Amino acid sequence: MNVLKVYNTLSRKKEVFEPLNPPFTGMYVCGPTVYGEPHLGHARSAITFDIVFRYLKYLGYKVRYVRNITDVGHLEHDADEGEDKIAKKAKLEKLEPMEVAKYYADSYHTALAKLNVLPPSIEPSASGHIPEQIKMAEEILKAGFAYEADGSVYFDVETYAKKEKYGELSGRVLEDLVAGTRELEGQHGKRRSLDFALWKKASPEHIMRWESPWGEGFPGWHLECSAMSAKYLGKKFDIHGGGLDLMFPHHECEIAQSKAANHSEPAKYWLHNNMVTINGQKMSKSLGNFITMNQLFAGDHPTLQKAYSPMTIRFFILQAHYRSTLDFSNEALLSANKGYKKLINTLRILKSITLEGAAHSDAKVESEINTALTGAFEGLNDDFNTAVAISHLFALSKIINSINTGIITGAAISQSLFEHLKTEFIKITEDILGLTEEHPEDFAALITALLEIYKEAKTNKQYDKVDQIRAYFKNAGLVIKDMKNKIDWAYEE
Ligand code: ZN
Repeated sequence: MNVLKVYNTLSRKKEVFEPLNPPFTGMYVCGPTVYGEPHLGHARSAITFDIVFRYLKYLGYKVRYVRNITDVGHLEHDADEGEDKIAKKAKLEKLEPMEVAKYYADSYHTALAKLNVLPPSIEPSASGHIPEQIKMAEEILKAGFAYEADGSVYFDVETYAKKEKYGELSGRVLEDLVAGTRELEGQHGKRRSLDFALWKKASPEHIMRWESPWGEGFPGWHLECSAMSAKYLGKKFDIHGGGLDLMFPHHECEIAQSKAANHSEPAKYWLHNNMVTINGQKMSKSLGNFITMNQLFAGDHPTLQKAYSPMTIRFFILQAHYRSTLDFSNEALLSANKGYKKLINTLRILKSITLEGAAHSDAKVESEINTALTGAFEGLNDDFNTAVAISHLFALSKIINSINTGIITGAAISQSLFEHLKTEFIKITEDILGLTEEHPEDFAALITALLEIYKEAKTNKQYDKVDQIRAYFKNAGLVIKDMKNKIDWAYEE
């Protein structure tokens, strides 16, 4: 049972996870492009690979997790002006492009910290690895799989496809791709539409630019991941991950680049998380259903009925297997909030109760506990199926609640099994799934409610109660202020 299997997009089947150099293992995940606020899609990808990271560590691997920051803003060009987005915003607000990139990278990090996503081991940025990218482009040129044209360098897909299989990851066929592409639209010197840029010549108005053997320019997007994964994990490493939308062309191009330059398939296992839909529709700015993480946390979007806490969102994402689509709706989030609270209440109970177990115990209850614990780990071992793991935690939750209310007595469970249950439940919930107790933010509301009770007790001359509430405040480092016109509280000085 204790064998981890992962679904490998490359082979299209589940395989036993066998890293190249155990106990070490390396994972590269495509991170965000930092030209906009992080959104629900970013949250799903980050949480998916956070689970992989956490679970591999739990299994005893020494994991080096690399997740990049795409800060060379070549991804989205304004259709009307053909201008780079970071550059455009920078010009409008008179900022250095790196100020814009830093702002959104910080926003991404803050949101992920709230979602209890662990930081990766290394977080390299594209702009910090220009020499590595230039070197890789030179190697691909030298190997004969690229050509230079008018200050740009393009990967020659057709020549590559004669030697290697292009499309092995996405299952796309080159001939179909060629047939489906449009005519070239004035791209300087690019021979065929499927060819992609390794290096692009910078137009005079382009702000982000670097010196290269081909003149001033900037690297193509696919190149940064190939260069940085090889630098930090080696030419061949264990896991490459990312969103399903990156599989083609981004990951397909990464494979082609690595094979051309390093003569090696870059990653042994390719993992892709599926997409988030909003009320059954694709999330997109044009449909007006594009929800950022901050809007979710604040409830600040027309689609949202209310604010949803980071742990509710984490639970919502984990309730589905990462390869299934995940449909966002207020109903689904409200139900996730209930589920999360149920689990956390169990966690609190479990931490607070002790059990004097008996020497003879109830075989049926013990077997239920063992089955559920085994089931949770079997779920995680089956391609990180968090949905299955959570369903078994709910089964355990029922048993733990029965212990708490005395329906199941100490005589039913041995001391050692209870301790085992406690340790494993906490480990799965907090360490592996990363679900922790979220304290109510409304501290002020709790204080106001207590003061109301204090006032009532005073009016009714219940002085024992009055003293008791004063003592509670004192224990919390607070003091009640009885004034002529009102009752208030203060921090005890
Ligand atoms: Zn990438």
